[in-house]
Amino acid sequence: MAKVPTSEQMEIQGVRVGVPRRAFLKSRRFCRFCRERVEFIDYKDLGLLAQWVTERGRIPPRRINGNCARHQKQLATAIKRARIMGILPFVVQ
Ligand SMILES: [Zn+2]
Repeated sequence: MAKVPTSEQMEIQGVRVGVPRRAFLKSRRFCRFCRERVEFIDYKDLGLLAQWVTERGRIPPRRINGNCARHQKQLATAIKRARIMGILPFVVQ
């Protein structure tokens, strides 16, 4: 009969048994713009905006890119402006 390891033994082996809540909170993504104290997102900054759109040209939702409401809104506005200016694509086929 195979010996089933106890949760204590599994933890020693580096297997996480029952993820503790704190570990999740610790690894939770924090708004990058808040961390870098960005006050205004420039729509002409293609290098920055390109990091925040998918390869298909979409703006990911807040829950994916982890931004706060204020910066996500600013970012979305900046991306939309950049699209109108022809710097960013509306859609990539
Ligand atoms: Zn923020």
